[in-house]
Amino acid sequence: MKIKEIRAVPIKFQVQPKTKPRRQVGFPGGKKPFVRPANRYPQLRKPEAGERREAWQPPDQWQNVACVVTAEDGTWGLGISVMGTPVAAIINAHFAPNLVGENCMATEKLWDMMVRMSAMYGSNGLASYAISAVDVALWDLKGKLLRRPVYELLGGPQKDKIFCYASGSDTAWYLELGFKATKIFLPYGPVEGLDGLRQNEEIIARTRELVGDEVDLMADGWMGLDVEYTVRLAETLRPYRLKWLEDYLLPEEVDGYAAVRQRLPWQALATGEHWYLPMPFAQAASRRLVDIFQPDVLWAGGITAAIKICHIAEAAGISVIAHGGMNYPYGQHLSYAMPAIVWGEKSEGVSAPGVPLAEMVKLPGTAVIKNGYLVPSDAPGFGLEVTQVWLEEAAQAARSA
Ligand SMILES: [Mg+2]
Repeated sequence: MKIKEIRAVPIKFQVQPKTKPRRQVGFPGGKKPFVRPANRYPQLRKPEAGERREAWQPPDQWQNVACVVTAEDGTWGLGISVMGTPVAAIINAHFAPNLVGENCMATEKLWDMMVRMSAMYGSNGLASYAISAVDVALWDLKGKLLRRPVYELLGGPQKDKIFCYASGSDTAWYLELGFKATKIFLPYGPVEGLDGLRQNEEIIARTRELVGDEVDLMADGWMGLDVEYTVRLAETLRPYRLKWLEDYLLPEEVDGYAAVRQRLPWQALATGEHWYLPMPFAQAASRRLVDIFQPDVLWAGGITAAIKICHIAEAAGISVIAHGGMNYPYGQHLSYAMPAIVWGEKSEGVSAPGVPLAEMVKLPGTAVIKNGYLVPSDAPGFGLEVTQVWLEEAAQAARSA
């Protein structure tokens, strides 16, 4: 079966939960900032007039992208990724004309073609988002053509259900939802100095007190710390027994990761959501920079890249937890099938207090976490229930963003 058409379009998810939140979301005591790599420049932290986002963030039209791959018989698969406008341009102008007419089942070959086509402008970053969107659409199509769920094409279920953790600030609500592990995004980094360090400790101390000893607790620095601060922070937080410390440096600071590893031999370390394609994971595995890899299946090169990353990790005795893996069916199917993947992260669409998780589904057909565990849909492909009408409405929402 040949590929007849590949088309990508920026989309914006529209989620309108019916239930009203019981109270405001956030840390007890109000909303806090988050550590961000650009925080050293005050002009980049300002919210732009009338907008939700801060100045450093890409424009709203860039939020998401949908990619539809259609086969000769009219069957189509759907992929998504982020950074809508530039990623759609890479897919439509560069990848699509060269992939149409190819065998739609040849996922390894098509992935390799896209990596090699984009090499001249860097196959990581934006190109990697584009590769991911096309690749997961191809896997969805393959599952639909074979009438099997994608996790069966990846080797079949490896676990009965996926243990999930919630990432965010509303720990009490996550406990109520049945999560037995949770991750806090640190509000303060090197820019806020000793006072910020003290406030980070206060938040982690209060959260540990709230969750007790039977719930695992993690902390995320979202690329915004540095080596010295990371070491100091980890030593300060040691009494609160973090399961892991995550994403503390810029993704390219490989020698920085080596320094943190050497100076914190006792602390479990995790990163990888901003590493693209399998190569950085292979390099990190050979130097054992972290204990847990966190590739994003929709950013790092799709299911095809994620399988390779899982195999690299498994052979090196490193665990994998797909970044935001429980947010969409793509990561759910991967996590269900791969022995290297130990947990599932729910980071987007964790509902506000009192709102059922089912009301927060962004992509129709996405399976919902129940009492801290998830089982993916067993419908063909990724089990998506997306229609052409839904796609047109989501594209319209992006155009008017
Ligand atoms: Mg993270």
